[in-house]
Amino acid sequence: MKLVDPIIAFQAEIQQIRRDLHAHPELCYEEQRTSDIVAAQLTAWGIPVIRGLGKTGVVGVIKNGSSSRAIGLRADMDALPMQEINTFAHASRHAGKMHACGHDGHTAMLLGAAKYLAEQRNFDGTVYLVFQPAEEGGAGARRMIDDGLFEQCPMEEIYGMHNWPGAAAGTMSVTAGPMMASSNEFYVTVKGKGAHAAQPHKGIDPVMIAVQIAQSWQTIISRQKSPLDTAVLSITQIHAGSATNVIPDEANLVGTVRTFTQPVLDMIEQRMGEVAQHTAAAFGAEVDFKFRRNYPPLVNHAEQTRFAVEVMKEVVGAENVDDQVEPTMGAEDFAFFLQAKPGCYVFIGNGEGEHRDGGHGLGPCVLHNASYDFNDNLLPIGASFWVKLVEKALAPA
Ligand SMILES: [Zn+2]
Ligand SMILES: [Zn+2]
Repeated sequence: MKLVDPIIAFQAEIQQIRRDLHAHPELCYEEQRTSDIVAAQLTAWGIPVIRGLGKTGVVGVIKNGSSSRAIGLRADMDALPMQEINTFAHASRHAGKMHACGHDGHTAMLLGAAKYLAEQRNFDGTVYLVFQPAEEGGAGARRMIDDGLFEQCPMEEIYGMHNWPGAAAGTMSVTAGPMMASSNEFYVTVKGKGAHAAQPHKGIDPVMIAVQIAQSWQTIISRQKSPLDTAVLSITQIHAGSATNVIPDEANLVGTVRTFTQPVLDMIEQRMGEVAQHTAAAFGAEVDFKFRRNYPPLVNHAEQTRFAVEVMKEVVGAENVDDQVEPTMGAEDFAFFLQAKPGCYVFIGNGEGEHRDGGHGLGPCVLHNASYDFNDNLLPIGASFWVKLVEKALAPA
């Protein structure tokens, strides 16, 4: 492991910020206190800030030398609407809100890198430190782009990093191409005709039709999609009726679709709609089909991935780098940045949970779990990765 020495020297300061953020989690687009702290820290280190992109977003701008080259580094700042069950000193003080995805750690790692880069300035060009709101479902990345991020901050490449529980601390991983899935939701209402349950012939039973649709949809995955493409279609809610002896008017199907490519997603959305419409029509019913695309697939660019792997190897050693990590069907809104700019999103191992302070919950230390905590041992590793990435990408000519 080759960490950047001065970063190790101020690890305690960065850890204090991380734990303070953990104790004061804020949800999508409400990251006011977090945003103020990030802006105040950057300002204290002499880094100019741009605020208001994506409502609570903050961008720090460090220019050095004369090169027009520019690179973006991104951290997310938001927490989740869930109750933390850890009772250690830095546990959440906001009921029903928790940093259970480690965005407190991501913010702290980028602040650590910012402090070093502002002090040492061993690069030629511009570094944009992008602190984004609302990763957890609020598409904060897209909102920052819509608000003019890339016009105000014209960068050539952008990089992101997420902690990865289960992978050992001190390891990093990534893969070129699709690494995380698109996430999409569907809401379907089958409109039949209610009747007495003893006289089904006098109505149109929406429950049976919904069941037919649910079954048929799975054949889109098993029979219509190429076996070489990856996708999942999960129906997570079926709602209908209120009595044992009443056939209801309507039945609802709700769920999620995940894919790694846009063409597969287009096909699934279209076929789901057709199957629902035609199945309902076959039984004399109607259907209301709504399909909402949330985050696109996260697709790492080949060249930037190769570059990130080189830097990872320098920081944690080649034996601790997996450059062909198995993709996950989870989603991540950094995907929007990668649609707009070349770049790469990497994972940094968070360990199994042995780092947690006494008083942690009895659950596993995994993302979105009430017993989770970010591993502070990663702070110098992640910050060193950011620093070396900048110094290599913007090396003086
Ligand atoms: Zn999350
Ligand atoms: Zn996350």
